[in-house]
Amino acid sequence: MNATPATRIKAADTLGHYINGRTVSASSATLDVHNPATGRVARQVELATRETVEDAIAAAEAAFPAWRNTPPAKRAKILFRFKQLLEEHADEIAALITEEHGKVVDDALGEFQRGVEVVDYACGIPELLKGEFSKNAGPAIDSWSEFQPLGVVAGITPFNFPAMVPMWMFPMAIACGNTFVLKPSEKDPGAPLLLARLLSEAGLPDGVFNVVNGDKVAVDTLLEDKRVQAVSFVGSTPVAEYIYSTGTANGKRVQALGGAKNHAIVMPDADIDNAVSALMGAAYGSCGERCMAISVAVCVGDETADIVVDRLKDQLADLRVGTGTDTCNQMGPLVTREHCDKVRGYVDLGVKEGATLVVDGRDLTVDGHADGYFLGPCLFDHVTRDMRIYQDEIFGPVLCVVRAESQEQAMQLIDDHEYGNGTCIFTRDGEAARYFSDNIKVGMVGINVPLPVPVAYHSFGGWKRSLFGDLYAYGPDSVRFYTRRKTVTQRWPSGGVREKAQFAFPSNG
Ligand code: NAD
Repeated sequence: MNATPATRIKAADTLGHYINGRTVSASSATLDVHNPATGRVARQVELATRETVEDAIAAAEAAFPAWRNTPPAKRAKILFRFKQLLEEHADEIAALITEEHGKVVDDALGEFQRGVEVVDYACGIPELLKGEFSKNAGPAIDSWSEFQPLGVVAGITPFNFPAMVPMWMFPMAIACGNTFVLKPSEKDPGAPLLLARLLSEAGLPDGVFNVVNGDKVAVDTLLEDKRVQAVSFVGSTPVAEYIYSTGTANGKRVQALGGAKNHAIVMPDADIDNAVSALMGAAYGSCGERCMAISVAVCVGDETADIVVDRLKDQLADLRVGTGTDTCNQMGPLVTREHCDKVRGYVDLGVKEGATLVVDGRDLTVDGHADGYFLGPCLFDHVTRDMRIYQDEIFGPVLCVVRAESQEQAMQLIDDHEYGNGTCIFTRDGEAARYFSDNIKVGMVGINVPLPVPVAYHSFGGWKRSLFGDLYAYGPDSVRFYTRRKTVTQRWPSGGVREKAQFAFPSNG
């Protein structure tokens, strides 16, 4: 067992890579990682060169034959131990997420927990890999399908869930017998490195899980290297599309999850108080930096819209914005200065486009944190489909209210939008809810549930330009994504019977 200690990522560290069970520093170029609450540099991260990524792929390739032949039950034992270590280190991982991403610590623990649930699911891998068997598929012929690992697979992940999204990928990939190279976001690389150390401490053989930090150079190396069999990506739609087209052109299996603009419909019969509370959490939680955040509330009827806007305005007056480490706060800063400026720019644009800015968070200041990347919650009313604040993914604490005359008109808006990640309807009418879930062109649907993020034993994915590829992340789809089906048909001649050559196509006819 490799006993690399899971030491704390320290404030002044320059983070390197994790290759073949060891922390590796390649003395390449570095990038500053900021604490978004203070605006100060928390640490640096190295940007991998092509050679460093190739070293990680070589380590993963070397580890594959033995790992592939390790019984699934033994792989599961290592994942059980990993899960225990994760739970022991939960506070440390959440603190790292809050320091580098900015989200409030309860939210960091929430994302961490949803990642751990995928590890739970992966612990059931002996059951999930059992395969399919048919006795007497023909006379004295048995047939079975088995699911073999692919080899070296890669994961490329976004900044907004630095622990959960990597855990959507690698627990199932390695449980299936693959070896893995992760390229996390360069904006918050601390948590993934800590996960790598804990995997080694749990007894994962060297080279089975590797982390390379970096930018496009690292990503392109993974996409072009023939030894990488499959790529899982989560991030923005333009990059997802690039990853899908480049990866598949290089012969790889690719699943690339992209951006979103999630609409919630509020019907006139909805329990409005509950709907407004749900909208508050779903629109402003994690500062709106969630791919499942609700960024558009479509209110059916002016009366519904007037009530929803009034109540949101009241509740927003009490929303506590500040550092993620203060447990009284409900919303932290945005991830970087550039992103904060971009979101603020969208608020300016919305005003120019003629939407009504009901709540303006642009003047917010947080005492003692003048250099933090804070923006207060913003609420627009009378948003229309021709506006860019409606069309684009803003990825910040900005909720747009659109007014519709009917459920059909509200659903048409959603169906016409380029993204189809998540959506939700608030209603007390079962028929309306059933019609909505049956017909809406979106991958994940909530009925009075604003963030319908599937649990670990279902699978996560959107429709339209929110997903490129056929298979969703984690859950049952991940077994299919990280394995290749092989079907074996066997007959053992018995009784010394000589069989004549058959020229008709074999059948049971
Ligand atoms: P991003 O696309 O900028 O970056 C994602 C990853 O791609 C990072 O590791 C980054 O280093 C790499 N990358 C960035 N530009 C690249 C390029 N030109 N070539 C190659 N690689 C590149 O995304 P982000 O800003 O980190 O994350 C936010 C986005 O992720 C939002 O659009 C959000 O909706 C999306 N997201 C989607 C899901 C989902 O499940 N659909 C989940 C989380 C986040």
